[in-house]
Amino acid sequence: MNNQYVANTLETVKRRYPGEVEFHQAVTEVLESLIPVIERNKEFEEAGILQRITEPERQVLFMVPWVDDKGKVQVNRGMRIQFNSALGPYKGGIRFHSSVNTSIIKFLGFEQIFKNSLTGLMMGGGKGGSDFDPKGKSDNEVMRFCQSFMTELCRHIGADTDVPAGDIGVGGREIGFMFGQYKRIRNVFHGVLTGKGLQYGGSLARTEATGYGCVYFCDEMLKDKKTGFENKTVVISGSGNVAIYAAQKVQSLGAKVVAMSDSGGYVYDADGIKLDIVKNLKEVERKRISEYAKEVKSAKYTENCFDIWTIPCDVALPCATQNELDGKSAQILAKNGCIAVAEGANMPSTPDAVKVFLDAKISFGPGKAANAGGVATSGLEMAQNSQRLSWTFDEVDAKLHQIMINIHDSAKNAALEYNTPGNLVNGANIAGFLKVAGVMLAQGF
Ligand code: NDP
Repeated sequence: MNNQYVANTLETVKRRYPGEVEFHQAVTEVLESLIPVIERNKEFEEAGILQRITEPERQVLFMVPWVDDKGKVQVNRGMRIQFNSALGPYKGGIRFHSSVNTSIIKFLGFEQIFKNSLTGLMMGGGKGGSDFDPKGKSDNEVMRFCQSFMTELCRHIGADTDVPAGDIGVGGREIGFMFGQYKRIRNVFHGVLTGKGLQYGGSLARTEATGYGCVYFCDEMLKDKKTGFENKTVVISGSGNVAIYAAQKVQSLGAKVVAMSDSGGYVYDADGIKLDIVKNLKEVERKRISEYAKEVKSAKYTENCFDIWTIPCDVALPCATQNELDGKSAQILAKNGCIAVAEGANMPSTPDAVKVFLDAKISFGPGKAANAGGVATSGLEMAQNSQRLSWTFDEVDAKLHQIMINIHDSAKNAALEYNTPGNLVNGANIAGFLKVAGVMLAQGF
């Protein structure tokens, strides 16, 4: 790294948080792309902006005891990382997955600062979660866990302080249970969580927002290549919230989705994935994607979700989890003629994969820009809650679409201004950073 201030900051992060590899990975990527910004704007170093933006303002770790259906006490670990509040209340999802640890939540919280900044809305960055896995648990077990989780978390959040949302393992059911417990303990009914049910303050189009937003963003990337989604073949990893609604929007734009996955494996359907079947399996029956191949004759199931990238496609949308697409997979995508990759998930492509995409001139939309539609629509939900109003689906969708176009343009323009035209990784990091850093200067230290 050829800038001493950047190198020293990264060194401090690694020393302070040894072993937190995902967090180191996210910070390294952002700091590397900020080198020209730091060199052009000396005031950032003088005000210690990089040390401050890489250190969470507050980290809350807590025990989550709950009782399972057999009457046995279980103990999980809960956390909320309140990373940066320069632009507004902390905002970012809650993840329930057995892999959750401080490294993963910190990387997600750090990314969230820049993502939220890119949306143009007033939101700081944060993230939370637990190593609890809702898969295989009864509704009552999930409820008891969510209530215990919120019993502690409710002291640290609020509509003007910190507004969590969903993420992996946290959908409408979990948000409902957490909202109910918050209300019971704090005795206030306000917009403290987003992704709520439509009957009690949720926003229309929030469920669809991350997936739709990713496709709107990718469409802008394709327009720069003088093409669009019509008649394209698309591979989408995951079959959760982001993947399902990315698939829905892709299909509505005239493209064919030929493969989807879960952590067990992937299904390939050359005739095009029947989304109503996937939605029923995942949203209603909570079953595995392998069941799709039992219901649909034209489909084939392969165990090993990472091999999904061997399927030839024009566009790839990784929408499952971090580091699910490595350098080798990226090379296969490039060899098979893929022209665009947009990340619906957070940091799904490893650094090696990103390098392959950039070198091969494959249009690449990084997660903090391409999947910002979810948090942007959460911001719109907060606005509706403050007004005690609900906007129509079309109103929210139109605002989401415009926000995604703006994010694409900001990232594209920042990449141009800092001499890496077409590099949306640099562009998104720079555009997101400049706004937060400017506000941090204005607010003092
Ligand atoms: P869901 O829990 O709804 O779905 C996650 C999907 O990814 C499931 O199909 C799951 O399979 C799969 N998956 C999870 N872990 C792994 C793994 N280790 N290997 C392979 N597949 C895996 O989550 P979301 O759709 O909400 O989130 C997906 C991604 O999008 C995450 O990176 C999240 O941070 C990001 N994101 C989500 C937003 C939102 O609004 N929901 C907003 C912005 C980003 P299985 O069921 O087998 O675990």
